[in-house]
Amino acid sequence: MNREEAKQAILDRYPKIFPVDPERGTRIGFACDKGWFPIIDHLCATVQDYIDNTGVTVVAKDGETLLLNPPQLVFDTIKEKLGTGRFYERVRAFPAETVEAVDGATLERVQTSAADKFDGMILFAEHLTSVTCEKCGKPGELMNRKGFLATRCPACAKQEGFKQRPDQGSPSTRLTITPERVEMRGAGPQPEPAA
Ligand SMILES: [Zn+2]
Repeated sequence: MNREEAKQAILDRYPKIFPVDPERGTRIGFACDKGWFPIIDHLCATVQDYIDNTGVTVVAKDGETLLLNPPQLVFDTIKEKLGTGRFYERVRAFPAETVEAVDGATLERVQTSAADKFDGMILFAEHLTSVTCEKCGKPGELMNRKGFLATRCPACAKQEGFKQRPDQGSPSTRLTITPERVEMRGAGPQPEPAA
């Protein structure tokens, strides 16, 4: 299976995560090589399984209890940046009938809880891209070629002239947290001020 076919197979497997853009009539591309496609595939499987099979019981405005699934996640962009994978996501609003039936505070609670879970899944996937060759999918590490960073296995690195970075840290310290993610963290609940 070539790169294009492999990408198409993933898009087709997760139509809710990769909807067709109504204006352009196309779906997103992956701005990375196919060594990371299995990571994308596993991330999408985990995300969609969580959305489809994790119901939260809430009390609706009319007093009835109902099972609420987390809102749908959509990926707008998946790309390589500074050698590791980045996933830019968006959480869709609840369907109109749900918004009508359940109060806003409850919906927000379910949405925030889902966003936290998605954030963790995506961070883990981004970490995996920092230890997986983007070209072939074998174990790799962040390499350097005249200031250009990429995650490569030893064989692909040799072929393309990449070298290990002298300042190589552990995988967790190498992983760059995107500004959006830091912002999201900062906006979370603040600790109670000391009395
Ligand atoms: Zn490789």
